[in-house]
Amino acid sequence: MHTEKRLSDSQLLEVIALYKNAIAIYTTEDIIIEMANDAMLAFWDRDKSIIGMPLAEAVPELKSQPFIGILQNVLRTGIDDIGKAVKADIEVDGTLQSFYFDYEYLAIRDASGVPYCILHTAEDVTEKVLGRQAIETAKEQKEALEREQILNEELAATNEELCSTNEQLGRARESLYSLNGELEERVEKRTRDLSESEARFRSMAEGSDILIAVGDETGNVTYFSRAWVKLTGRSMEELLESGWADLVHPEDRGRYVNIYLTALKEKAPFTCELRILNKEGNYRWLLVKGPPRFRPDGSFAGYISSCLDITELKEEEQRKDDFISIASHELRTPLTSLKASLQLLERLKGDSSRKLLPALIEQSNKSMDKIMALVEDLLNFTRTAEGQLHLNKKTFVVAEMLEGCCNHVRVVGKYQLVIEGNKGLEIFADEHRIDQVIVNLVNNAVKYAPESKVIYLGVEKIDNMAHIYVKDSGPGIPADKIPHLFKRYYRADYEGSKYTGLGLGLYICAEIVQRHGGNIGVDSEPGVGSKFWFNLPVH
Ligand code: ADP
Repeated sequence: MHTEKRLSDSQLLEVIALYKNAIAIYTTEDIIIEMANDAMLAFWDRDKSIIGMPLAEAVPELKSQPFIGILQNVLRTGIDDIGKAVKADIEVDGTLQSFYFDYEYLAIRDASGVPYCILHTAEDVTEKVLGRQAIETAKEQKEALEREQILNEELAATNEELCSTNEQLGRARESLYSLNGELEERVEKRTRDLSESEARFRSMAEGSDILIAVGDETGNVTYFSRAWVKLTGRSMEELLESGWADLVHPEDRGRYVNIYLTALKEKAPFTCELRILNKEGNYRWLLVKGPPRFRPDGSFAGYISSCLDITELKEEEQRKDDFISIASHELRTPLTSLKASLQLLERLKGDSSRKLLPALIEQSNKSMDKIMALVEDLLNFTRTAEGQLHLNKKTFVVAEMLEGCCNHVRVVGKYQLVIEGNKGLEIFADEHRIDQVIVNLVNNAVKYAPESKVIYLGVEKIDNMAHIYVKDSGPGIPADKIPHLFKRYYRADYEGSKYTGLGLGLYICAEIVQRHGGNIGVDSEPGVGSKFWFNLPVH
């Protein structure tokens, strides 16, 4: 059926002569392969048997590709089609493979201009295309690589930055660690110091007789030292709960509260003397001092108050006041009497009988003696108080000194002085001062034990000491008064002003004895008598 359209050999040769490369010629709508040279058959991997067959049958894999449609179009329209590096899939050795061709579909027309066949020339550019593709791929890869490299570099830079940031972070962390360690150490040290200083404060406060209390800025007491418990008999809990203000003497309470509250308001130091009831039910004098405490930032933290028991001091003060009033009274009595005697003597100047004269003179002398004794005591006291009691020591026999002293008592004849003991004992001391002590003790015996007619003066050697005493059989001294006898201004019973005295005699005696390195005391039993004694080193 294709025969009438088949070309003559001469025609074919003509055509072939025109094209050196792969050539095929197609006719009709079915794209019958009129001719295909060896090169074209090689492209298709087919043999000459396909000549005369429609292209779609000869190379069936082309059916799913656009070429057959294009060829039909070229034949129909007469418009050539040229393709460059167009991909065609051809089955070679049973496998579909891709090739790239530069091709031309040329419409060959007859004399009237109607296309009657197509001249198909093709050149295999697969290698070129693939090479180009490879180059492109390589280029792309290169670019990608470059991009990657840039990216890598950027990454490396970023990484480096990160590394250095990391390093910085590491260093920062390290310094933070060490700072933290340092801080912890400092806090630990502070805490240690603090607890140490608190422990020191507590042991100081607890070991002291001073009453210590710590209060906060509101005036609330947060700590009492043990001395407070000892004084008040209240437990620590009771003290912390209700304090001690209610124990203050009613006469002192208002004044104290006023001083304290004013100071608290002004955050100022305060000081006050008050009496407080102790657990035995006696009032004790306290000197309260409260310096304010301030924190390092300057804010007020409350008070640490300390209270000192000044009862003894107060009593001493009281005795001093009493002493001054007694001394003036004591001096005024003989002076008044002396003055009266002198006035009388004045008036009697012209009296011829002069009977009263001896009595008046005696009275005047007595008054003078009293004044002299008082002034002597005062002088001695001043000397001892000022440390002017100088000793002039020498060796003498004690019994001889006892024999020779106190003639004023013996002269009166009312009393008998009996010397007893070791009559030969010698001591190394200030005879005049020791004599003064004996005179004082004998005078006291006469004054306070007037009924004991015999007064014993004795001396014994005990160990390396001379034990010297003055013993009477008077009323004795109550035990509770004995510890105070040798204190200055102390008088066991002066209220009745029955006896002249300043409460200095025994104090001066004690001073003299102590300056000799000795000691003094009294054994006394009420109703039986008193034995005042002192011990002196023999050498
Ligand atoms: P004064 O100046 O009062 O005599 P002293 O220091 O000599 O002072 O004596 C102190 C107190 O000791 C006296 O006030 C007295 O009460 C008491 N006293 C001293 N000696 C005796 C004594 N022999 N018997 C009883 N009481 C005495």
